Amino acid sequence: MIIVLKHGSGEAEIEEITTRLKEEGFKVHLSQGVEKTIIGAVGDRTRLQSLDLEALPWVEKVVPILAPYKLVSREFQPVDTVIRIGPHTIGGDEVHMMAGPCAVESRSQLLETAHAVKVAGATFLRGGAFKPRTSPYSFQGLEEEGLRYLAEAREQTGLLVITEVVDVRDVKLVAEYADILQIGARNMQNFFLLKEVAKVNKPVMLKRGPSATLEEWMMAAEYLMDGGNYNVMFCERGIRTFETYTRNTLDLSMVPALHALSHLPVIVDPSHGTGRWQLVQPMAKAALAAGADGLIVEVHPQPEKAVSDGKQSLTPPNFKLMMQELSRLSSALDRPLKGVVG
Ligand code: PEP
Ligand code: MN
Repeated sequence: MIIVLKHGSGEAEIEEITTRLKEEGFKVHLSQGVEKTIIGAVGDRTRLQSLDLEALPWVEKVVPILAPYKLVSREFQPVDTVIRIGPHTIGGDEVHMMAGPCAVESRSQLLETAHAVKVAGATFLRGGAFKPRTSPYSFQGLEEEGLRYLAEAREQTGLLVITEVVDVRDVKLVAEYADILQIGARNMQNFFLLKEVAKVNKPVMLKRGPSATLEEWMMAAEYLMDGGNYNVMFCERGIRTFETYTRNTLDLSMVPALHALSHLPVIVDPSHGTGRWQLVQPMAKAALAAGADGLIVEVHPQPEKAVSDGKQSLTPPNFKLMMQELSRLSSALDRPLKGVVG
């Protein structure tokens, strides 16, 4: 439920309600906007009556949140979450491009890609050091060595790093190197991983499970927020449908749907969403037009030699061309790409 306070309510009033709610076993989350102060309380609704909060003179109204997701909902927080990461913000006016190889394969492969995407206007470097692979015989990632290369690339280019964490045992390690922790599609409902990631003080990008409904996805984000991590962004990366021409079906309707239901930023991954590099640019454009707060795209210096996802990886020249196209579009949409100069 949310408790909307009357205009002008101060710290003392907030404190009193918070204390009462906590005494009744509620988890309390405060959302202070310019216009309104909203207190979100999650707990046993039957204990609410005895509190009689509406009788307090500084309470405007008490509204139950009927949806199963609470903290991620727009009702709980009407204003957009803006995540600050170094010099960047995600979820505000800026739009960001996260780009890099599917997997960190070697130091030279990563550094070459990092410099190329930086010059073309990316602000974040992606690259998996721990790879969740369909086959146990496929390359599983360079692990900590890969994380070290990502950190070196960040130092050389100024790009911030987003990388996936696949296992609860690696959360602390990955968080030492990453600026954003990625939770992959296969792990969207790994609730133990979500709870661990919720404890670290790093933003998280939560990819949509290949067969997850919007509600399941939002409930997964609820785990992160309930566990104390409020810096969460969604990432639409396509879902499994009957279509086989594309690797997945990129469900761009989720972008406006999420923006309507939630205050959290939404990123789109047209690489995994299509599985074909030729479709990446058009779907990236469509994602921006639909209101995405950022894109995550795979780039490889030699896609034909990539150990994973070569078919969906752009070459650096193609990435540059895409950025030029996107830059024109994003300016027309009044949300310029942050890393693009001019
Ligand atoms: C990835 O980003 O390389 C990845 C494995 O993505 P997903 O979890 O969406 O399949
Ligand atoms: Mn990939």
